[in-house]
Amino acid sequence: MSIVTTIDKFQPYSLRNIHHAPQWQKLSKEEKHSLEVLGAVFPFKVNQYILDELIDWGNIPDDPIFRLTFPHKDMLRESEFQELSNAILNQFNEAEIQSISNKIRFRMNPNPAGQMTHNVPRMNGVPINGLQHKYKETVLFFPSAGQTCHSYCTFCFRWPQFVGMSSLRFEARSSEPLVQYLKEHKEVTDVLITGGDPLVMNTRILYEFIRPLLIPELEHIKNIRIGTKSISYWPQRFVTDKDADDLLHLFEDIIATGKNLALMAHYNHPCEIKTKIAQIAVKRIVGTGVTVRMQSPIIKHINDNPQAWVDLWTTGVQLGAIPYYMFVERDTGPSNYFEIPLVSAWEIFQKAYQSVSGLARTVRGPSMSTFPGKIMVDGIVEICGEKVIALQFLQAREPNWVRRPFYARFDQNAMWIDHLKPAFGDSKFFFED
Ligand code: SF4
Repeated sequence: MSIVTTIDKFQPYSLRNIHHAPQWQKLSKEEKHSLEVLGAVFPFKVNQYILDELIDWGNIPDDPIFRLTFPHKDMLRESEFQELSNAILNQFNEAEIQSISNKIRFRMNPNPAGQMTHNVPRMNGVPINGLQHKYKETVLFFPSAGQTCHSYCTFCFRWPQFVGMSSLRFEARSSEPLVQYLKEHKEVTDVLITGGDPLVMNTRILYEFIRPLLIPELEHIKNIRIGTKSISYWPQRFVTDKDADDLLHLFEDIIATGKNLALMAHYNHPCEIKTKIAQIAVKRIVGTGVTVRMQSPIIKHINDNPQAWVDLWTTGVQLGAIPYYMFVERDTGPSNYFEIPLVSAWEIFQKAYQSVSGLARTVRGPSMSTFPGKIMVDGIVEICGEKVIALQFLQAREPNWVRRPFYARFDQNAMWIDHLKPAFGDSKFFFED
């Protein structure tokens, strides 16, 4: 057993085997049944490290990491829950249950913001599966072996990657199409390797996907980013796993080629960065020259209070990580359970921002990842007697929209850009032309 954690061996639990977890007995009969019903729609996976070291079992069901990993009954409409519950209790066959589940999944806007329809690039007229190219300088790459995670988050906007519906899934079996595409797109400077979580791959397989990006013909690729929640859900990946040192050497080798390597680290709650092994993981990663950038949506039941963000950003900065984004929960999946109004998100952001050192004020938000781009809520102001919400693009399909302020009528309840109306009597926002 390691001196930094009680858990060295990765033990995942799905619906199939969660009843073997020691903590299973702590759930009520109703919670167990809910999990079975919800697990037919949403992906469910947790691991022993999360069960032992991140969830406070004296505080369930309100514990934030319990909410983050165990789905809640209110994530479905009452009628949907009842229909599925009846099907399970009456032992409908698998195909019948799947048909009910899929109907619910399609109702939940599985690929928002034009991911399937507008972001998939083409070569010779053929769509390239496993790639998205929305912003001029950045291409997203979804390696097939990285399309799972060490645990699944109940709010996840990438949930269609994990529910076994191939028509909804992005994945690339190799880097070859990506490399061909990048050779023809010199405007691209950044590749974001994402998932799922690419760091579920062992180091050898990860290297196979990254190595082709290091060739001289791709000199224009300056930044390789890896989207990951491993530092939270399985920090052992960087400390005690048998190829942890190999992974850190791979990071060093990438940096030695002259490219910048950044881990886009998903942190949803400060407790994820408080365990000893999670802190050692960050220090080891930063020690290789990799930058760690912290990002998360603001999510009801999990981190909808300023202190959670203050603790997260402050601890991150102490360890050498950089606060980067507070996102708004996306309009997909069970967003009705997790979303909070834009005005409330901005108030929480502002309170937290006002309470942290300048070193933590690298963070931006709250930001919505919408069809036209990343729109940040910049504040509430009064202009010419009208109370308005100030907004701006941080990223946009049209590069010249970026950092152009615009205004919406004040709306205390709006959750997303679609709910907002332009201010000052305008009939549409400038980007809707
Ligand atoms: S770790 Fe990231 S990709 Fe995986 S379930 Fe959580 S939010 Fe989704």
